[in-house]
Amino acid sequence: MSVVRTRFAPSPTGFIHLGNIRSALYPWAFAKVHQGVFILRIEDTDQDRSTQAAVDVILQGMKWLGMAPDEGPFYQMQRIKRYQEVLEQLKSAGEVYPCYMSIQELDALRETQIANKLKPKYDGTWRPEIGKTLPPIPEGVQPVLRFKNPKDGFVSWNDKVKGLIEISNEELDDLVIARPDGTPTYNFCVVVDDIDMAITHVIRGDDHVNNTPRQINIFKALGHAHPTYAHLPTVLNEQGEKLSKRNGAKAVTAYEAEGYLPEAMINYLARLGWSHGDDEVFSVEQFLSWFDLDHLGKSAAQFDEAKLKWVNAQHIKALSQEVLAERVRPFLSALGVVPDDRLPAMCQLLKDRCDTLVALAKWVSVFYAPVQPNSEELAKHVNDVSRPAIALLKGQLEEASVWDVPTIAQIIKDVLSQTGLKMPQLAMPVRVLLAGTAQTPSLDAVISLFNQKEVVERLSKA
Ligand code: GLU
Repeated sequence: MSVVRTRFAPSPTGFIHLGNIRSALYPWAFAKVHQGVFILRIEDTDQDRSTQAAVDVILQGMKWLGMAPDEGPFYQMQRIKRYQEVLEQLKSAGEVYPCYMSIQELDALRETQIANKLKPKYDGTWRPEIGKTLPPIPEGVQPVLRFKNPKDGFVSWNDKVKGLIEISNEELDDLVIARPDGTPTYNFCVVVDDIDMAITHVIRGDDHVNNTPRQINIFKALGHAHPTYAHLPTVLNEQGEKLSKRNGAKAVTAYEAEGYLPEAMINYLARLGWSHGDDEVFSVEQFLSWFDLDHLGKSAAQFDEAKLKWVNAQHIKALSQEVLAERVRPFLSALGVVPDDRLPAMCQLLKDRCDTLVALAKWVSVFYAPVQPNSEELAKHVNDVSRPAIALLKGQLEEASVWDVPTIAQIIKDVLSQTGLKMPQLAMPVRVLLAGTAQTPSLDAVISLFNQKEVVERLSKA
């Protein structure tokens, strides 16, 4: 069997978002599953709209997610010569012809067709046929080149997601494959690339279903079998609209900055349009051992930020304290926090309550940087009842010669019995003073991770 070769072929005309990157994830995974080759091809022929910044987001996003291509990136703009070469081949084979119809004539044609309730399409005026006389060539007009689409029969393919699709050639007009200045057009470049890059499986968004029969006809004209196609249903945003930059979709790299783990993103994106039984949380390795084209979803998937956060939280929880400490470090630097060897234990204590690395970093920073307790909470918890107990606790903690959880737990217990207060009456104000919030993990564990001097200082503010 031939080696599986897949590709991700983004157009760098906007920052790639989650919907786009999912179209990279599946071909990447399919190649990995089959020990194949995953190729990155940048489709940058729309020079007015393509930007280097958008290319950078693609490269950075894929690197972050660990989806580095095995080959590429190839840039279509660097392959123009090759497209022209293949265009010459088609010319010599009589598969293309020059068309001199002006924009005004095309518009008029379209209007007449619409008025007659016909589907607008090029009418073949300039298509040479045996026994047909072509109109006189207008002076000073550079023609476009049109592809001679077969007039009869059907184009069909067995789509791995959509099943058998069959289109009558009558529905397809002769596609422009080179502009008046000779530059090749989109569908033609895609086919030449897919042939040259020996792509076996094209896995892409279903906005390309309409291009596929046209592309298949070009494959045929060039004497090549077409690849297997899998057209992925759209990804919708939370409002049910197609995910797009215009309606708020974020660049994929934004999720890195927001503290999502790449393995959680892969997990979430994998499930957004594919399933393995009821499995919701899985590792990249599991995904790569399970992925297939047979379990791709057939209907549109909807992005759900709360679910993404939940998946991220599960992956954070599953990390060891040492690994988590390493992962959170850059986020701490961003906050200006220089952690020490208490960091892994802090991660262990806090990981269950953080759904992003940013949230974890914020929590950890509480131990290192001064906190601004919420004034309402301060007023609520630090009062005449709690103040004497806080002072007592502060004194005993200051004198503690051992700084560990059992010692601190004993001190708290002693203070409670000496003052007759209940645990929450002491724990709440102490939490607010130490961490700025009354919601923290267990008090003795929190205190033990603070620097002893720091605790005394913060409790002095009661
Ligand atoms: N460049 C196209 C896009 O970004 C993808 C083309 C393809 O996968 O065939 O939508």
